[in-house]
Amino acid sequence: MRIVFIGPPGAGKGTQCKRLVELLGIPQLSTGEMLREVKRQDTALARWVARHLDAGELAPDHLVMRIVAQRLAQPDCEAGCLFDGFPRTIVQAQLLDEYFSRSSRKLDLVLDLHVVQEQLVLRLLKRAELEDRGDDDYDTIKARLRVFETQTAPLLDYYRKRGLLTTIDGMQSPDEVFEQIRLAVAART
Ligand code: AMP
Repeated sequence: MRIVFIGPPGAGKGTQCKRLVELLGIPQLSTGEMLREVKRQDTALARWVARHLDAGELAPDHLVMRIVAQRLAQPDCEAGCLFDGFPRTIVQAQLLDEYFSRSSRKLDLVLDLHVVQEQLVLRLLKRAELEDRGDDDYDTIKARLRVFETQTAPLLDYYRKRGLLTTIDGMQSPDEVFEQIRLAVAART
């Protein structure tokens, strides 16, 4: 199965993705993790990526697609994968569609994890205390939420029109959220 997780920062995508990985036995492709990995290197590309990430802005679409395509070409992705935080723009969704149509693959499900704004800010501030991510201070959090609304939220319509979207109430407990996700996945298999 190929599943996309869409949700604003702090919605619990990473946590739920990890649980689903265990259940389905397919890899999790987190573009946030991949980009942080690039950022850790000592190269001009790393510094360029860092500028985007630290400002809470999206990395350029074609760069992200290139990194994802390299990962998708690895054998462990043949049976499927979970996209955590990708695509994040309509252009990325189109690039992914083109990639899949060239390799005769397709997406099976898009999960939309819905959480209200105030809750997201609280969760992200708490995470900033626990992890040292560099992009979780208050202003950057606000910037990332705005980026989600303007650039990523339009994807919901894009996938709804293709009949792929299932919305999950992300305000419930992690166990309840996962149960809904499990049911949505079971409905597609
Ligand atoms: P995440 O760990 O998914 O919250 O991503 C952290 C940061 O990485 C985001 O705020 C963006 O700056 C960048 N990023 C992650 N995924 C993407 C993507 N698909 N396209 C562009 N930038 C991304």
